[in-house]
Amino acid sequence: MIKVGIPHSLFYFYYYPLWKTFFESLGAQIIKSYPTTRLTVNQGVQLAVDEACLPIKVYFGHVKELAEKGVDYLFVPRLVSVETKSYICPKFMGLPDMIRAGIPDLPPLIDMTIDISKTNKYLYTDIVRVGRLFEASKKRIWQAYEKGKQELRFCQALASQGLSPQEAIQVWEGEMVAEQGEERLRLGVLGHGYSLYDDLLSMNLIAHLRSLGCQVVLAEHVDPHDIEANAATLPKRVFWTLGRKMVGSALHFDQNDRIDGIVYLACFGCGPDSLVGEIIERRIVNKPFIMLTVDEHTGEAGMLTRLEAFVDMIERQRRQAVESNLSPHG
Ligand code: SF4
Repeated sequence: MIKVGIPHSLFYFYYYPLWKTFFESLGAQIIKSYPTTRLTVNQGVQLAVDEACLPIKVYFGHVKELAEKGVDYLFVPRLVSVETKSYICPKFMGLPDMIRAGIPDLPPLIDMTIDISKTNKYLYTDIVRVGRLFEASKKRIWQAYEKGKQELRFCQALASQGLSPQEAIQVWEGEMVAEQGEERLRLGVLGHGYSLYDDLLSMNLIAHLRSLGCQVVLAEHVDPHDIEANAATLPKRVFWTLGRKMVGSALHFDQNDRIDGIVYLACFGCGPDSLVGEIIERRIVNKPFIMLTVDEHTGEAGMLTRLEAFVDMIERQRRQAVESNLSPHG
């Protein structure tokens, strides 16, 4: 059976169910790398160029792990655009080239281009080209792709029920996820999914917030129409798909009475984060807001201290608000 390696990184958190189903339906075996470890980060930092952001460096570490596992192909798509008139960060465009240049002795890359900014035509041609590595019948290739899309929709529906996309993938793969305990606060939590849902990169941000008694509300839990409507209130359209999703979600959280505060996870060295984070920081007027920036040297203890202080501050404000509303006459 032909083995296809899929790195557990970057757009894994958004599209893994689609591509796993697609390749398996065509008879391939999927090998994915393990969730990010310190070794993955160290390997990635050594292989990638210094100027790359942390998630890209980590991706190098995942590719290296898969190459050492002896896969026949590595799936490293060139993502340009996943919706009309919007784009993914340019770093994704050059990913297959950066990987080839940075890691020697790789298995062949499946580097299909995903760009539907203007038309689906080229994507469809590329799907057939990639499918033909495994299956001659165009009809069966299409069926595999449609099945992949169906599984992705199912997984997205799971995530919209309150799970993180990473947890939704775990449930989709038949694994158990921990039940959430009692929650005292509801926090909107934002960031690029490949940082936020990667436990090592995010320093277990979601788990820490839950352990502090917070319900975590993610962009995936917000109605996409609300996100677009809020993002459209900016004077200029944010043309990055993920950036617009974060801005729209942040503005939605800011006006939502059931949200107590907003946490934004940024990556050091990320151009889009410096702009989108700045827009969000300026536009949030009603809710406490904290921006946490991570790089390869960030320590989890420092992150936890800041989160504890943020949660304490919100709880103190809530207590003061309640006390100031109490009548002195009982
Ligand atoms: S958006 Fe930022 S974190 Fe994501 S790939 Fe681009 S530079 Fe890196």
